[in-house]
Amino acid sequence: MDKRLGLGLGLAAAVVSLGSALFYARSNSPPVDPPTPPPEPAWHFADIPRIDVHTHIPPSQYRWAAATFARFGVRIALNASGGHPSGGGLEETIAASETVDGAILSYCSLDFTEVESPDFAAYAVRTLDDCRAQGAVGLKISKALGLGYMLSDGTLLPVDDPRLDIVFEHAGELGMPILIHSGDPQAFFTPSTPDNERYAELSAHPGWSFYGPIPEGPEGAVWPTWQEVFDQFERRVARHPNTRILGAHFGNAPEDPERVTRMLERYPNLYVETGARVPEMGRFDPDRMREIFERFPTRILFGTDFQVGRRGTLALGSAGAEPDTEDRIPFFYEQQFRYFETDEEDFAHPTPIQGNWTIDGIALPRELLERFYFRNAVDLFGLPDPSAPAAP
Ligand SMILES: [Zn+2]
Repeated sequence: MDKRLGLGLGLAAAVVSLGSALFYARSNSPPVDPPTPPPEPAWHFADIPRIDVHTHIPPSQYRWAAATFARFGVRIALNASGGHPSGGGLEETIAASETVDGAILSYCSLDFTEVESPDFAAYAVRTLDDCRAQGAVGLKISKALGLGYMLSDGTLLPVDDPRLDIVFEHAGELGMPILIHSGDPQAFFTPSTPDNERYAELSAHPGWSFYGPIPEGPEGAVWPTWQEVFDQFERRVARHPNTRILGAHFGNAPEDPERVTRMLERYPNLYVETGARVPEMGRFDPDRMREIFERFPTRILFGTDFQVGRRGTLALGSAGAEPDTEDRIPFFYEQQFRYFETDEEDFAHPTPIQGNWTIDGIALPRELLERFYFRNAVDLFGLPDPSAPAAP
């Protein structure tokens, strides 16, 4: 450094410290900096409201959940555990919704165990009508369809069983979108051995394996393959062009974005949400993943699969043998926001139990982020626009 410049800087520093010495002398107490708000991370477009289209919340946890969601910009959450009407829990979740000013809204569900009864079609129509009348925003169908309901002949009720056509058709007539989870991660359909990349998750939850014999099934019954269940799902989507179907977990095929792209191309009634699948999505070339959002800007929705149990236990997308703890919630949201909003590489994904790898962000432009975070959900479910100024 130039000597004179160094001297000048030294002198300036001396003057500054003299100035603050005088200040101290006059005020008698050291100056207190105004509290600085925590820095807003670059990967958090905090001014964009979010609608989470895939959560599970029991009514007793609504106040806590709504307050928690608000901390992360989630202004509306759709509860996939909204319950059945007529005593199956829907009345309770709809009532709880009012206690949080509609920040949590219900999907409803229906019971497929009666599918072999001749009255099933009437039951389905009546139930969906009740769901709509009570204020459910959509119908949720869980993976038990395809992997859970066993028929009297000992086979599993497939996703595309024709007796269920009425459910999908009538939901379409009522304008109710259907959130449907079919199948599960592909690794759950392969042997649960140490080389399975989901070994940690399968070890914590042995019942999540869909490989080999069905434990409670009849002699010789084996689980279907991943592909068989996915094909049932595809036939279902194809059969109901007038019903809007929201494929859970990135269209039930997060391991295969090209397949998701083909599905979105082929079926204009199909939408997908991202619940609990950022870990899978983040493994792919970020440019390619961004292209999918660019190509289908109105048909990909933000979902997290944030799950709260009746006693307040947490599963953030998925959990190990022990439930997740509350202090992990910021990480869960932040790693998702980081994925959608930045081009950072090689960072931890939000749900560690799902596997030991890192992800790369896709840096969606703001216009796409707005669609993805809330506008598409507003349009699909007919929700209030959370970006509109509140009524006076
Ligand atoms: Zn879920």
